[in-house]
Amino acid sequence: MSELPPVDVPGRARRLRDRFEDAGVDALLVTRLPNVRYLTGFTGSAGAVLVAPDQLVFVTDGRYGEQATEQLHAAGVDARLEVRTTQAEQRDALRVAAGGYRRIGLEAHGVTWAQQRDMAKDWFPAPDHELVATEQLVENLRRVKEPGEVARIRAACAIADDALATAVPQLHDGVTEREFALALEFEMRRSGASGVSFDAIVASGPNGAMPHARPSARPIGRGELVVLDFGCVVDGYCSDMTRTVSVGEPDEQARGIYELVLHSQRAGRDAVRAGVECSAVDRASRVVIEDAGLGDAFSHGTGHGVGLEIHEAPRVAKTARGTLTAGDVVTVEPGVYVPGVGGVRIEDTVLVTTAGADPLTAFPKDLVL
Ligand code: ZN
Ligand code: ZN
Repeated sequence: MSELPPVDVPGRARRLRDRFEDAGVDALLVTRLPNVRYLTGFTGSAGAVLVAPDQLVFVTDGRYGEQATEQLHAAGVDARLEVRTTQAEQRDALRVAAGGYRRIGLEAHGVTWAQQRDMAKDWFPAPDHELVATEQLVENLRRVKEPGEVARIRAACAIADDALATAVPQLHDGVTEREFALALEFEMRRSGASGVSFDAIVASGPNGAMPHARPSARPIGRGELVVLDFGCVVDGYCSDMTRTVSVGEPDEQARGIYELVLHSQRAGRDAVRAGVECSAVDRASRVVIEDAGLGDAFSHGTGHGVGLEIHEAPRVAKTARGTLTAGDVVTVEPGVYVPGVGGVRIEDTVLVTTAGADPLTAFPKDLVL
């Protein structure tokens, strides 16, 4: 893997603070781990960061003291680091840090009911504090990718492309779905991915009718449609791609469905552009399948954002609100699923620009191998 360009981690907390006034908070307690990572560079499994107007306070436990020190330093983040053994001590550190701020924002999508009750009672009690439920403050910042983030997603996509090219000959040998999923993962890790971005879907024949089928011990047969949906992680950033292939010539019905989904996917991709409604991209893909009388067989949204998480903002769906922004990275992945027969899904991850969609996944879209 070639050297990755830097990312601007310290600038993110500054941009987050600019949104405090609209959100009605004086400080934000960030507890969702992808958001903690985004703001600090910390990759561990336990940590929280209080983002206040004039300081960042990072709290973690004893397992992560050294790692947090190194990673925050490497990211150029200037934070007060509090390493505390027990949960009570961690709570006390956050309570002290939050002392001067009245309206404390919590991440409504990341805090459980039990945590919120504890925080209201013991962590940030009234009348000194008021807890404010915030919606996707950091997630919305994360939507628009910096060039360094795009480079990481692009690298992950390229590794996935190469892994499929390397693994494809095995499909001729009657491998099982599980064996092929393992081959994809092996090739991606061998090429420098730190892991998979989700468990690969390898769904052959009738199994392909389930959009999120788990790979089984079923051998992949000739002439069958095989849905391959997989991705990997490079420096925290995910890739996501689906191809549907067939070893040998599939039957006429399968080929017809394939051509339809290919057409739908191209229409969705062609609709992607900064300023376009997210729902309009879904519409562009969906109308192609509806016009063929198979609207009911396209049973999910057209796409989603990709970044530190495999599914993140924005949604590309019928009910999605808002428009695409230059710098969004989204998937376009229509599918048609016919119970008892099989399925076809074709998915690319693309960067949204003012000129259209810059594809990050590039594996060819030939049905027959
Ligand atoms: Zn996918
Ligand atoms: Zn996807």
